[in-house]
Amino acid sequence: MTIQALKGFKDILPDEVRVWQHVEATARDIFQRFGFTEIRVPILEKTELFARSIGEATDIVEKEMYSFPDRNGDSVTMRPEGTASVLRAFIEHGLQAKLPVQRLYTIGPMFRHERPQKGRLRQFHQMSVEVLGLDHPRLDAELIAMGWLILEELGLTTSLQINSLGCPACRPAYKDGLVAFLAARKEHICEDCQRRSQTNPLRVLDCKSSHCQEQYTAAPAIIDHLCPGCAEHFRKTKESLDLLAVPYAVNPFMVRGLDYYTRTTFELITDALGAQSAVGAGGRYDGLVEQLGGAKNMPGIGFAMGMERLVLLLSQQNAGACPEAATDLFVAALGEEAAVQTFPLVHLLRRKGLQVAMDLEGKSLKSQMKQADRAKARFVLILGEEELAKGEAVLRDMDSKEQQQVELAGSQEALCAMLITAVAQRKQ
Ligand code: ATP
Ligand code: MG
Repeated sequence: MTIQALKGFKDILPDEVRVWQHVEATARDIFQRFGFTEIRVPILEKTELFARSIGEATDIVEKEMYSFPDRNGDSVTMRPEGTASVLRAFIEHGLQAKLPVQRLYTIGPMFRHERPQKGRLRQFHQMSVEVLGLDHPRLDAELIAMGWLILEELGLTTSLQINSLGCPACRPAYKDGLVAFLAARKEHICEDCQRRSQTNPLRVLDCKSSHCQEQYTAAPAIIDHLCPGCAEHFRKTKESLDLLAVPYAVNPFMVRGLDYYTRTTFELITDALGAQSAVGAGGRYDGLVEQLGGAKNMPGIGFAMGMERLVLLLSQQNAGACPEAATDLFVAALGEEAAVQTFPLVHLLRRKGLQVAMDLEGKSLKSQMKQADRAKARFVLILGEEELAKGEAVLRDMDSKEQQQVELAGSQEALCAMLITAVAQRKQ
């Protein structure tokens, strides 16, 4: 019996990987343009880190975490998201002392025990960013615009929804109002919502049942209950998004699945992936650093993009954007002597930066030309016994099918220079 991967865990095969690399390279480039530096944090953390930050009464902590006792009996968890780990590292290493405003990004796998489906896995990948030490609303707009730019440069069409979730000054009163609203409609909402109205009332607004959603159209909206500080912050965030010409819609009922959010929250949404509509999401979390034992009044904001969903969207909307893998030169040597002569040449060309392939088994010319086609070689250098005797080889341009004689008598350096020039001209 063969062993297969776990349910919800997927291999990313060589055919798919160029799309992944394109997504990642595009994002890294943009992160750098916006002044972000990479941070890499462990995959395994103490369970308490996520319970304390994401919140005990969230879906993630309640039922999705990969938690288990390690060999010492300590409870550890495979990270379900990046923010908690990055903030732990920020606090642990006193990063704010090195630079008052930290702009950090990280890319890697996350783990949640959910029901696997298209665009939803148990091991999935996020590219996420965090900015710590600044609460200016222009930062909120800048960050959202950066997420928007990533999608734009990938050639993807999505929409942007924003909301404000207020702060500890204004949210409790709003929560009370919402709880009262829900209590009055107890018989008309699902059991899940009834339970949540006790444990995590804001989350009911996110219920997938259309019956519940009908009820909630009349629910109080948090943006109507913001304190003056939060209202002004939200106004300025929107104004700044207008300045950057980033189109958004305010969704007063958008709540996030993590408890730590304050003020600005946002989601980048597509209708092309069925129920899995969010390709990216994030928001401000001004109290989280303190909550994790770090400095008081340390504002923070971040977002995460789901790479599986970006890759799916890209394959649907803009597959042509991902560079095809190609080989600069395939060296077809026929016979042992030709092979012995070209083997070090291939190595030298690789040292000089060319992408070169060679058949090591002494196959027929026909078979080697097939290999060259498969490798999408731009040129093939053919060296048979006849050519060897004449002291020259044949260089074939695989696109134009033109062939030219190449002198072998001169120095290897000269031959390399000639081949490198030919490849460079073809790439232009
Ligand atoms: P959803 O509403 O789709 O469950 P979420 O609110 O749980 O998303 P976040 O925790 O904010 O998502 O994570 C940010 C992004 O990570 C999501 O927008 C999505 O693109 C991606 N993501 C989250 N969970 C998964 C998963 N199980 N599989 C694949 N991608 C995921
Ligand atoms: Mg989720």
